[in-house]
Amino acid sequence: KAPLLQVENLKQYFPIKGGIFGRTINYVKAVDDISFHVNEGETVSIVGESGCGKSTTGRAILRLEEPTAGRVIFQGQDLLKLSKAEMRKKRKDLQIIFQDPFASLNPRQTVRQILEEALAIQNVVPRKQRRQRVIELLEMVGLNADQADRYPHEFSGGQRQRIGIARALSVEPKLVICDEAVSALDVSVQAQVLNLLKKLQREYNLTYLFISHDMGVVRHISDRIIVMYLGKIVEMGDKQSLFENPQHPYTRALLSAIPVADPRRKKERIILKGDVPSPIDPPQGCRFHTRCPFVMDRCKTEAPPMHKLGPQHEAACHLLEEGPVDYSQLLKEIK
Ligand code: SF4
Ligand code: MG
Repeated sequence: KAPLLQVENLKQYFPIKGGIFGRTINYVKAVDDISFHVNEGETVSIVGESGCGKSTTGRAILRLEEPTAGRVIFQGQDLLKLSKAEMRKKRKDLQIIFQDPFASLNPRQTVRQILEEALAIQNVVPRKQRRQRVIELLEMVGLNADQADRYPHEFSGGQRQRIGIARALSVEPKLVICDEAVSALDVSVQAQVLNLLKKLQREYNLTYLFISHDMGVVRHISDRIIVMYLGKIVEMGDKQSLFENPQHPYTRALLSAIPVADPRRKKERIILKGDVPSPIDPPQGCRFHTRCPFVMDRCKTEAPPMHKLGPQHEAACHLLEEGPVDYSQLLKEIK
């Protein structure tokens, strides 16, 4: 079966203007030629540090910013070829939930008005049924009917995110892009909202593209995971492969940041030095070479291709030319 979403060679370059004539003098290569797919009913996460291009990817798929190049095939159709009007209609099937629900909810509208407006824009239910539908939506996300006439500021952060979810789901989308959707919430509230998202996924056969910097959150929700660094995909895999046998040094570094009990694992931690380089002039060769503990000469000039490591697992690193590596061995050798 064809994937619900197929992203091919997506690029998002933002021009930098400068000089006395305000000409484009360079580009921020926020997303630089990435390809991946998302199957129906799956949760695929994109993870990486801030500035790696994960949010830009989500926005480019929805054309909130027009991508520079590539294809975004959704249900067999290239979204980048649609007219603005056609794209607006498509938004019924592709919704986004943002990190800060407060910023995206109109403070002067009651919850009922917010939800009725969403229903009206896409005309999903006849006017007469909207009142009833609002109540169903509130109940669906664990709120109740008597909260419908309150304003966003009268709710807690977690409740506001539930309203954001209700609004996104009101139009019965197929794909929901969650951009740091639980990042602003307390850890205990995070778990509740993640569990709600999972429950709704099962009930409504939703597909999620889940964007997050938090490996702990990603582990909780994902079927497959995409790791990005400086605009590139460095590793992709099913959750089990990625967490139990991460193969790109950068993925291992990201995972090293989450606490583990296993003492053997502790010894194999990779602690990153320095900051993420600028996406304006990213390092030549492997973009991770300025921070990689295993850097070799060729890494500085030659960009590593993706190497297939398992049925659903691949990573872009020269160390993986002959298949997966044993990091406990490798780390002993460099110490
Ligand atoms: Fe490190 Fe080289 Fe692999 Fe890049 S290609 S991650 S620099 S070993
Ligand atoms: Mg972001």
